[in-house]
Amino acid sequence: MTHQSELTDVPGMAISPCEEERDLRAAVLRGWRRRCPACGSGSMMKGYLKVRDECPVCGEKLHHHRADDGPAYLSVLIVGFVMVPLLGVAYIRFSPDPMVLATLFSVGSVAVALYLLPRLKGMIIAFQWARKMHGFGGETT
Ligand SMILES: [Zn+2]
Repeated sequence: MTHQSELTDVPGMAISPCEEERDLRAAVLRGWRRRCPACGSGSMMKGYLKVRDECPVCGEKLHHHRADDGPAYLSVLIVGFVMVPLLGVAYIRFSPDPMVLATLFSVGSVAVALYLLPRLKGMIIAFQWARKMHGFGGETT
C-alpha cells in the first residue's frame, strides 16, 4: 500500500490527480501588484492592507487567506538587510552629522517598509492561492 492510497482511504482527504496546477510565478507577480491572483485585474486590497472578501472582477474568494504577520516579518527582514549596510557605507563615506544620518535613515526605513508591506502581503496571499492553502483549493477547512 502506497502513501497516496492510504490518504485516499481517509474520508475527505481524497487526492484528485485531475486538479489543474496554478501558475505560481504569475500569481506571485499579480500579488506584488496587489491584484487578484486568479485574474490579475481585480484589486486584492481595499484601502492599504485590508484584503477583499472576493475579487470584484472574477469573484475569486480571497477571505480565507492566512497572511497573518508574515508580511510584517518579511518587510522588517528586507529593510534591515538593505538599510544596515547602507547606514555603514553612508557613515564612512560621507561622515554626516549623526543626527542627520539617524533622521534620514529612520524616515527612509519607515518609507521602504510601508512600500513593501502591502506588496509582500499580496505576494504571500497569492502564494497561498497558487498552492491551494487554507481553503483556496475549494475545501471548506
Ligand atoms: Zn479576480
